[in-house]
Amino acid sequence: MPYDTIIIGAGLSGLAAGIRLAHFDQSVCILERHYTIGGLNSFYRLRSRNHDVGLHAVTNYASAGSKTGPLSKLLRQLRLSWDDFSLCPQIESSVVFPGYRLRFNNQFDFFRQQVHNEFPAEKDRFEKLLTMIAGHNELHLTSQTASARQILADVIADPVLVDMLFCPLMFYGSPTKNDMDFSQFVIMFKAIFEQGFGRPMKGIRPLLKTLVNRYRKLGGELKLRSGVQKILTRGDRACGVVLDNAEVLEAHNVLSSAGSLETQRLCDDDSRATDPPITPGEISFVETIFSLDRLPADLGHSQTVVFFNGADRFDYRPPAAACDTRSGIICSPNNFVYPSDHVEEGRIRITALANPRFWFEQSPSQYESEKAHWREQILAAALPHMPDFRPHILDCDMFTPKTITKFTGHVNGAVYGSPDKIRDGRTHLKNLFLCGTDQGFVGIVGTLLSGITIANLHLLKP
Ligand SMILES: Cc1cc2nc3c(=O)[nH]c(=O)nc-3n(C[C@H](O)[C@H](O)[C@H](O)COP(=O)(O)OP(=O)(O)OC[C@H]3O[C@@H](n4cnc5c(N)ncnc54)[C@H](O)[C@@H]3O)c2cc1C
Repeated sequence: MPYDTIIIGAGLSGLAAGIRLAHFDQSVCILERHYTIGGLNSFYRLRSRNHDVGLHAVTNYASAGSKTGPLSKLLRQLRLSWDDFSLCPQIESSVVFPGYRLRFNNQFDFFRQQVHNEFPAEKDRFEKLLTMIAGHNELHLTSQTASARQILADVIADPVLVDMLFCPLMFYGSPTKNDMDFSQFVIMFKAIFEQGFGRPMKGIRPLLKTLVNRYRKLGGELKLRSGVQKILTRGDRACGVVLDNAEVLEAHNVLSSAGSLETQRLCDDDSRATDPPITPGEISFVETIFSLDRLPADLGHSQTVVFFNGADRFDYRPPAAACDTRSGIICSPNNFVYPSDHVEEGRIRITALANPRFWFEQSPSQYESEKAHWREQILAAALPHMPDFRPHILDCDMFTPKTITKFTGHVNGAVYGSPDKIRDGRTHLKNLFLCGTDQGFVGIVGTLLSGITIANLHLLKP
């Protein structure tokens, strides 16, 4: 019997779509190439320590019981409770440029005041930008785009303020070099500055397990170590998939979270090439994760996330060298407001833009020595923004664009996928749809909503 829907990928968007479809009694099978769930936001164990792969913070923070906003919408749609997320709010984060610091927390008026104080000449223009943001429909499902750089340049006069607004929004959600689509800018502005950050008390693992348990309870099937090597087509429709082990599974519909270019490459028909062709994403990162013998707060560091930039302008693109240490993100998972009995080891995560090609071209021995070299460079770039924690390092791990491609299949290790988003999730085949990163909503909340939105729009029609 063919499945109603086969879903490629057990990342957050695939799991959310699976829950929606299984809830409405579809027969659903999620196929995942990796041996575990979570995709870009997974977890692993190394030298007796548990790590999250991609979790800095959940954006779009809302306190338990809120009735509005993206988080409450996705909880309703997935029939989850606030306890399933157990979100703890951030302490405080900041954007730090030479001579300027903008602090923000989960109260938007605090950030607004910071902008007024640091950039008094921009006060009225910043307020005008806020009015534009409030009036913009960022959730439209057409693929129209507009340059946020251009729009901001027309409203805000001081280029430093423009760059400081872009810095966290690009780092946490732009697939485009030195620019963003304006709708994506508005989504990320609301998600980060207006709503703010939280963290599931025990990291991403319990949340992922909750999603899988819910999906299975509703009758959904999940097959791990089951990569799709080909999407089978008949005319203008997908009719099933071939797995890496040559097993064939049939389906009435296929939903892919693998990425638009990656999905196109899986199709076995002749009409694969789109006009214009899909641009591969290039924005990727290295991240170093330090385990410490004490909490960062005990060393005097209580910031949740610090977005720093030491150059004259913020330059968001793949660097010519292996990494760009002029800017970066420092995140401490310990610096959220936890219950008083919460115990976790001290951790610091430092992230920097990376050149995917460099990391793919290294031989295995060069790769390890380059990692060691760049770990020191990244650490040196971050230390002006926090106390020197080097005497307290117990262990360190580091991942690169190569690691991201190895575990998720994303071309170039591109965390935010292709710059060409397909908002309505349609492909050249009538019953093959995209969800997740390349549909256009990124991050944890964004991709969960993407899975829900595309399932509702195309696969749960009345
Ligand atoms: C370092 C890092 C830090 C991040 N930090 C944050 C953060 O703090 N907050 C936040 O909100 N977001 C963060 N993100 C972004 C967030 O993790 C992603 O936007 C989100 O997880 C993407 O989910 P997805 O479902 O679209 O795609 P993915 O997670 O990529 O899921 C796709 C899945 O499909 C599988 N797959 C691909 N091809 C095949 C195939 N042929 N057959 C079978 N399976 C296949 C992959 O293995 C993968 O599991 C971070 C990401 C990274 C990498």
